[in-house]
Amino acid sequence: MQDRYGRTIDYIRISITDRCNLRCMYCMPQEGIELCKCDDILRYEEIIRLCRIFESIGISKIKITGGEALVRKDALDLIRGIKNIEGIKQVTLTTNGVLLEKYLDELVEAKIDGINISLDTLNAEEFKRITRIGDVETVKKALQKVLTHKDLNIKLNCVPFDTSKQNIIDLVGIAKENNVHIRFIEVMPIGFGKLFQFLGEDQIKQQIESVYGKMKPFEQKLGNGPSHYYSLDGFQGKIGFISAISHKFCHECNRIRLTCTGYLKTCLQYDFGVDLRALLRSGASDEQIKMAIEKAIMAKPLEHSFLDKSIESEEQATMSAIGG
Ligand code: SAM
Ligand code: SF4
Repeated sequence: MQDRYGRTIDYIRISITDRCNLRCMYCMPQEGIELCKCDDILRYEEIIRLCRIFESIGISKIKITGGEALVRKDALDLIRGIKNIEGIKQVTLTTNGVLLEKYLDELVEAKIDGINISLDTLNAEEFKRITRIGDVETVKKALQKVLTHKDLNIKLNCVPFDTSKQNIIDLVGIAKENNVHIRFIEVMPIGFGKLFQFLGEDQIKQQIESVYGKMKPFEQKLGNGPSHYYSLDGFQGKIGFISAISHKFCHECNRIRLTCTGYLKTCLQYDFGVDLRALLRSGASDEQIKMAIEKAIMAKPLEHSFLDKSIESEEQATMSAIGG
């Protein structure tokens, strides 16, 4: 469906858990967050029911996220269930890669339409510093296995906290040798992200160009999201940027988000939306839920105002509950 600004909303990110096996410093504190009660988290049958309703209003692409989605028991059953919904054209996953090697075969069998792997650095010490408890070798091993599946649609997402030139160069090097796109994401002032400054797109581009040559804008659309891409001579993959602050893309925003507790968020910055769990559990009909979703989408804000410090209705939830 279209919102009141004429934007077509056809994509939803669904967080299925707030739990995670890493503690990335821009996302979670060392000791973890206060976790949602199990009963508050949407059950799989509730998520599937909502996905059918989302499909009926024109959502055709679904990203499964978390927390770390693969730590939730039987996450593959949910993915298979959503894949079976007629009209859903794409089901993709965002993961930190820690459990990816274990579940990759099942994901491939389930015909997952794409996997985004979050990988901020290839350097073991930096990886430990950023994730606090992670071992980069686990993710590298998973990545190697993923890369043997030539037909899988793979993207690497990097929030550049290891700002050393070597890190950027090493990560970009993966896109040289493989048909994998790498995207650099500006840290957003949400939850723990408020504590950090981001490394700007222009600085990253400078670092890349000093080694790999001129980056040329790649005009074709790749994927569902707001990245803009560049190509480099001799590279199989593209280099993308998701620069929500410095290159705002709200005018073409196509997405909504469902938190793990069933709150439908229509903009990352604000807590505007609707509590779908309350509706589901109060016995509302599909038609009533559909109307509530449509109403929320019609009230989707025009844009974020992350740089406006006077805005008060900011989201208090952490990224792990929202799903990024
Ligand atoms: N655990 C999974 C992962 O790391 O891919 C999925 C959830 S995570 C919240 C989704 C994405 O959000 C990750 O790529 C992560 O780097 C990113 N992220 C988390 N906090 C962020 C922030 N404050 N600003 C920008 N991106 C953030
Ligand atoms: Fe976990 Fe992903 Fe947050 Fe890192 S960014 S702590 S992997 S949810």
